[in-house]
Amino acid sequence: MTNWTIKDGKSIFTGGKDSYKAAVQTAESCPSFSEDCEDELFCSDAVSCYNCRYRRWTTESFECIKRRQK
Ligand code: SF4
Repeated sequence: MTNWTIKDGKSIFTGGKDSYKAAVQTAESCPSFSEDCEDELFCSDAVSCYNCRYRRWTTESFECIKRRQK
């Protein structure tokens, strides 16, 4: 199962903004996870893409800039 789609060379999370379990599972297996500053934390899960400094919110979801296509 993949949680990503590519749009304009950007990796966009397909779970939107309320797939908490998938966001945790993805971050737990990601070597690049790095917790964002406290003001930017989105959910109570310690390790989650939603709390990662490399996610950039979009209208519907977020982009992972670490996964950006070259
Ligand atoms: S947002 Fe990107 S870098 Fe951060 S944990 Fe998720 S997949 Fe990894």
